[in-house]
Amino acid sequence: MTDTHSPATEISTDIVIFGGGIAGLWILNQLHSQGYSVLLLEAESLGNGQSIASQGIIHGGLKYALDGSLSGAATAIAGMPARWRRCLAGNDPVNLSGCRVLSDRYYMWSEGSFRSRLKAFLGSRTLRGKVDVVDEADFPIPLREAKGQGSLYELPDFVIDTFSLLDTLASHHRQCIYRYTPTRLEIQPAGADGYRHLRIGSVNGSLVAKTQRIILAAGEGNAALLKQVELAGPQMQTRPLNMVMLRKPNLPKLFLHCIGDSFSLTPRLTLTSHPCRNGDVAWYLGGELAEIGTGRNDSEQIASARQLLQELFPWVDLDGASWACLRINRAEGREPGRHRPDSVFLKASGDFLIAWPTKFTLSPALADGILAELTKQGILPALQFDPAVAAAVLNSATVASPPWETSFA
Ligand SMILES: Cc1cc2nc3c(=O)[nH]c(=O)nc-3n(C[C@H](O)[C@H](O)[C@H](O)COP(=O)(O)OP(=O)(O)OC[C@H]3O[C@@H](n4cnc5c(N)ncnc54)[C@H](O)[C@@H]3O)c2cc1C
Repeated sequence: MTDTHSPATEISTDIVIFGGGIAGLWILNQLHSQGYSVLLLEAESLGNGQSIASQGIIHGGLKYALDGSLSGAATAIAGMPARWRRCLAGNDPVNLSGCRVLSDRYYMWSEGSFRSRLKAFLGSRTLRGKVDVVDEADFPIPLREAKGQGSLYELPDFVIDTFSLLDTLASHHRQCIYRYTPTRLEIQPAGADGYRHLRIGSVNGSLVAKTQRIILAAGEGNAALLKQVELAGPQMQTRPLNMVMLRKPNLPKLFLHCIGDSFSLTPRLTLTSHPCRNGDVAWYLGGELAEIGTGRNDSEQIASARQLLQELFPWVDLDGASWACLRINRAEGREPGRHRPDSVFLKASGDFLIAWPTKFTLSPALADGILAELTKQGILPALQFDPAVAAAVLNSATVASPPWETSFA
């Protein structure tokens, strides 16, 4: 139902963003700080999809330098932790002060074997000055029992709480963020006035939004949006994961990559720890375990995870833990050979800009790219947005709940 014939309320806005994950919300904050009026339309809840389910690691690139070379990915990402820290300190137009940091430190644990030690060594040389070897005497408490069994490196990375981040980004601009029903959207061709008009139906009536540019930042949802606006490209790729979660009270809080003995450049395990509302701590397990685990059913995947944790952290008591899996796709711009992209993906096509950040960490770089593209196209702040008019027709969007709260029976 498109509500094509019902009378509509009209608004104008420089930019319409589809998708309220980290990409859409970051772009909204950055464009707003430059004087653009912005309307963000979300189909479900903010961050629903990848962002709320991200491990929240703000990477400094070492993960991508494990072969000893400074790859494109490592170079693109290396400046990001410092940029994020400026945002967290309130010293950037995108103000993240108040956002919860789960761990100010992230570690890389290299098991005792030769190849894993070598990988860690090469990675740390490549990013010399950014990675510190941790003396055994200074091991964080949860790793004290592991002394003598491997090497520990402190990375420039840190970990943020994904719910808090999405909520902080949304909190500055709630009057610009609305939920809508994709089947009640009609995007009309540019009119005689040169603007695009979007007709958005809701139970409260219809809204017509006049806009200069439309940004598709809906993660995996970009594929359907591209189809809806009849754009043949760019193509999207998805890379599936089977993440594992376990939770119980008093799990030690660990934040680390474990570098294994295979030839893979992906950490054997990437572990983050998340506080749950009932006081439990959830361990969220990614890395090679989640990539290889896509071919396993849930009980096989949980058994593999349990075995891996017992091998890596034999001193941690996992008895009584609840376990769950989360199958989820990473959505990115398509690369030749479907390889992992090195950086953000951004393409302009007519009045549309199509964007995938590739990594949570790279959202500031994506927003910079969008701003540069708008400037290049001569799109300047020009239209005034009236939030009261939008709020009379559309409902506000709330932040999604994290999977460690929703995935356990
Ligand atoms: C398990 C996992 C762990 C990860 N961990 C990390 C990490 O630790 N560090 C890191 O840097 N990166 C990480 N990533 C990658 C990172 O999460 C993603 O790159 C990033 O979250 C993508 O953000 P997004 O806003 O593009 O997409 P999403 O977060 O998927 O958001 C898309 C939004 O668009 C909405 N939407 C969908 N369709 C429509 C539509 N038709 N109209 C309007 N809205 C729509 C969705 O409801 C959603 O709110 C991880 C990814 C996964 C899957």
